[in-house]
Parts: sequence; C-alpha cells; structure tokens
Amino acid sequence: MSENTVSRINVRGVNFNNTTLDGTVDALLSGVREKKQTALYTPNSEIVQACIEDESLYDVINSAELIIPDGIGVVKAAKILGTPFGAGKIAGCEVGEALIKRLAETEYTVFLLGGKPGVAEQAAAKLTEKYPGIRFAGFHDGYFKKEGEENDAVIAQVNESGADVLFVCLGAPAQEKWIYANRAKLTSANALLGLGGSLDVYGGIVKRAPKIFITLGLEWFYRLICEPWRFKRMLKLPKFYFGTWKYKIAKKL
Ligand code: UDP
Repeated sequence: MSENTVSRINVRGVNFNNTTLDGTVDALLSGVREKKQTALYTPNSEIVQACIEDESLYDVINSAELIIPDGIGVVKAAKILGTPFGAGKIAGCEVGEALIKRLAETEYTVFLLGGKPGVAEQAAAKLTEKYPGIRFAGFHDGYFKKEGEENDAVIAQVNESGADVLFVCLGAPAQEKWIYANRAKLTSANALLGLGGSLDVYGGIVKRAPKIFITLGLEWFYRLICEPWRFKRMLKLPKFYFGTWKYKIAKKL
C-alpha cells in the first residue's frame, strides 16, 4: 500500500485520518444515519505541540473517530516524517459547511454550541440564507461552566432538542476535552464536531484569509496579522516544526 492510501497517519503521536473533505463528510453522515456516534477533531500543529508538552492530551485527541489535519504545519510534518497526507490540509470550517450543505437535503437537525452570546444564532441565519433546507435544533453560547449543574443543563438542552448533529465551537483544546468528557451523556447527537472559531466565520464576524494566503500555506500568518494577540500561542508553531526535524533525526526516519 502506498503512503497516500493508508487510512491513518501518525504525526508526533496524533493518529490522523488520511482522508479528504468529502470522505470526512460521508463518514459523519454515515454516523448519523447508522446512529453510531462519531466525533471529529481538527488539530493543527499548535494542538499536536500541546500534546507533546502535556501527554495526557493524547488520550483526548486520539479518542475521536475522525482526526483531520487542519493546519499546514501538520501537513508539512507528515511530509518531513516520510508519510505525507494524500489530500493535504482539510479546514474544519469547510467540513462543517460541506456537512450543512448535505444536511440541508435531509430531515436531520443541527445544534450549534459555542461562541459569544448571539453568534450561533447569527451563524445559523447566514447558513440558512445559503442552504435554505437546513434545520437547526437549538443554540447555546460557549461561555458556561464546563462542569457541574451549568454543564448538565447545556447537555440536557442539546438532548431535549433531539439534534442529530452537534457543532462544538469552544476553541481548542477546550472543545475536544468537552466532547471527550461528555459524549457518553449526549443521547441524540451522533455527529460531534469540534470546530474552533467556525461559528464566527459562518456568522461573518471573522473573515477567513484571502485565497492566496490559503494556497501559499500562510493562513496562520494572516490570522497573526489580524489577531496579533495570538502571537504567544503561535510560538508553538516553530517549536513544533524544528522539533519534528529533531524527532526525525533522532528516530532515524
Ligand atoms: N469560545 C467559547 N467559549 C469559551 C472560549 C472561547 O465559546 O469559553 C469561543 C470563542 O468565542 C470563539 C472560539 O471559541 O468563537 C475560539 O475561536 P478560535 O478561532 O480561537 O479557535 P481555535 O483557534 O482555538 O480553534
């Protein structure tokens, strides 16, 4: 089997799926149809580096059925390690939108969880304009206590809504930790997607980088210009990149 057709690619301990955007959406829809709960995480190199620095995070991240590389750093690392992805970077927000497009042709419903108050509703309004058949089961902002009574009330709201699909947009790795801790209590949703700041993008609050930045693999740079407070977080990127070369040499890969 060639490197491009293996189903999983291990990048510094994280077991990514070697798939495509369409393959990811198909797998999520199968989970919904077959009532087989499927979680999707979309780690970038910041999150893989966070796992390297706090090994307990590996169990959380590797627990998802679908793990896709949402970052040029992960894609480059896979290449450096001699196991390149067939399709390159797959953006989580594109998977979310492609899933909404497919769900709009069905009866299945979506719950949007995350973002500042009102953002989920704003995202839903914009998505409904684009995909008129889409049905939303409910909304909740992402600023609630992630344990105890308040958390239980959010889970009850999601369950009572009967949503088939749940977008969890709390930022990484908070959303992955939340899904990991609570998925057994989520009784109606069979697709659980950790999608970071996607609701801000769908709602038009945050603009994605212009295509040229995405094509050149510089989306991270565009985000840094627009949101300079990310600088400290982004220091993980060079650490991850040079660490991967060191790892390759040490492991004689
Ligand atoms: N957020 C949230 N609850 C929190 C902290 C953050 O809902 O307690 C939301 C925030 O409003 C934003 C998203 O999580 O919409 C994080 O977006 P970002 O682009 O930083 O995601 P990341 O890069 O971490 O995937």
